[in-house]
Amino acid sequence: MAPVTAPTPGKYDWVVIGGGSGGVASARRAASYGKKVALIEGTPNLGGTCVNVGCVPKKLMWHAADIAERIRFAKDYGQAVDSPKFDWESFKPKRDAYIRKLNGIYESNLGKEGVEYHQGWAEFVDANTVRVSPPDAEPYDLPADRVLIATGGQPIIPDNIPGADLGINSDGFFELKSQPRRVAVIGAGYIAVELAGIFTHLGSETHLFIRYDKVLRTFDPAIQDTLTSWMEHTGTNIHKKSKILRVEGQNGGPLTIHTEGGEPLEVDCLLWAVGRRPNIEGLGLEKAGVKTGKQGIIVDDYQNTNVPSISAVGDVCGKALLTPVAIAAGRRLANRLFGPSQFKDQKLSYENIPTVVFSHPTIGTIGLTQPEAEEKYGKDNLKIYNAKFRTLYFGMLPEEHKEPTVYKLICTGKEEKVVGLHIIGMGSDEILQGFGVAIKMGATKADFDECVAIHPTSGEELVTLR
Ligand code: FAD
Ligand code: NDP
Repeated sequence: MAPVTAPTPGKYDWVVIGGGSGGVASARRAASYGKKVALIEGTPNLGGTCVNVGCVPKKLMWHAADIAERIRFAKDYGQAVDSPKFDWESFKPKRDAYIRKLNGIYESNLGKEGVEYHQGWAEFVDANTVRVSPPDAEPYDLPADRVLIATGGQPIIPDNIPGADLGINSDGFFELKSQPRRVAVIGAGYIAVELAGIFTHLGSETHLFIRYDKVLRTFDPAIQDTLTSWMEHTGTNIHKKSKILRVEGQNGGPLTIHTEGGEPLEVDCLLWAVGRRPNIEGLGLEKAGVKTGKQGIIVDDYQNTNVPSISAVGDVCGKALLTPVAIAAGRRLANRLFGPSQFKDQKLSYENIPTVVFSHPTIGTIGLTQPEAEEKYGKDNLKIYNAKFRTLYFGMLPEEHKEPTVYKLICTGKEEKVVGLHIIGMGSDEILQGFGVAIKMGATKADFDECVAIHPTSGEELVTLR
């Protein structure tokens, strides 16, 4: 269904600003209850960050890198294959075509559910009116009973480092037409380790600049230590305790990175991955009276802003920037506002949200880290279970290729309730979801042990920890 270019008669029950994970999910759910719903997306492509410049194309690149790893070890499994050789230039258009297909599916799903799709940038006129500015037509206003802000966020490039804008960010990563031979990634969070891992495993000379001495410092120390040292072992050059002073060069040409106390480094591409900021500018929030804080739009547990007719979900609220979080919050909100009475108190709990990092190897984490658990329950009230091993897949590989697997289970109280689970190693991305269910249900160590192991797998170690 093509976007509509004018309002249809009558007031809208739900005007949703932003056609990403949270906005689309919430709009479709509200429309499924027979409500009159408009969804406004500024870019020509539906799906938001996740579909266009996030989870989906990132995971495809992760698979490409993972396959390169498998090919590298294929000979150890008796396969007569050559070394991997990734053809970035031909893969990118194929990846883009797949994303365009998803954009189309998003559009048709809106149509099937009866959501009016408006293409254009949106801004508030007042707390119950949203103006749409389509690319090729005059702006028009949508009168709304309620409005949802689901405008997401965007990557930051520092504005206090000379030459920083010669670099790209994660959006730019997905625009790269060819593979940089030498690349520098700045940052230590999800995006930095994921993209640095992809570059390394696809064969670029990769430099990761971090401010401290570990990556993923908000994760459990066992995860930080294991990933930092394995990334170094597998060829990512990690520049620790580094401070970028300036970047020199020209767009598209080699760049020289100058750091405090370090040798200048020449690379072909510099990528900033130092966090994201909420998309709140240009939304006319002041006209609607919506309050914002340092992280973005301020909402309560029910996604209400300070303005009764306006709610917000997803990255624009600055909390747990994950696609399933935006989707779950958006759907629960629509259920509560427009659904049957059984949903009248429904909200998303932000506790025990499982999350995965698509590093090499992958990481899964849910609940408290050990330092957080010590702070909350006291060291003496915790029992920590650890496992460290090499999974069978690597058994026949030379020692230097044996990837580590490290698991940690954090339990508290006499009943040993599981309050944290942190895993790194092959398959951790897929293992976590089921354990997430158990932990959400309040599982104890005894419940874990009660489940018979599946052999031979890595996950079985989690039900046999001693
Ligand atoms: P978005 O998906 O960003 O959607 C917001 C939409 O609003 C955008 O389409 C934008 O164009 C539109 N918009 C903004 N302002 C306006 C306006 N004024 N008018 C109209 N439209 C507007 N999460 C995971 O769970 N797993 C992953 O593996 C993962 N990988 C990621 C990898 C990368 C590189 C990045 C950057 C993010 C990743 N994320 C991942 C995070 C995930 O993409 C976001 O948490 C999720 O997309 C947030 O959804 P949202 O609906 O809040 O915002
Ligand atoms: P993150 O907040 O995860 O990490 C950014 C990190 O960069 C900081 O933790 C900090 O680490 C470092 N940093 C900050 N400022 C600077 C600076 N000036 N110079 C050098 N380093 C700096 O942000 P990302 O951009 O990586 O990702 C944003 C969010 O998107 C993630 O938090 C996650 O929620 C989501 N996401 C989820 C993914 C998934 O689910 N797999 C994948 C990708 C993104 P330090 O303090 O150690 O220096």
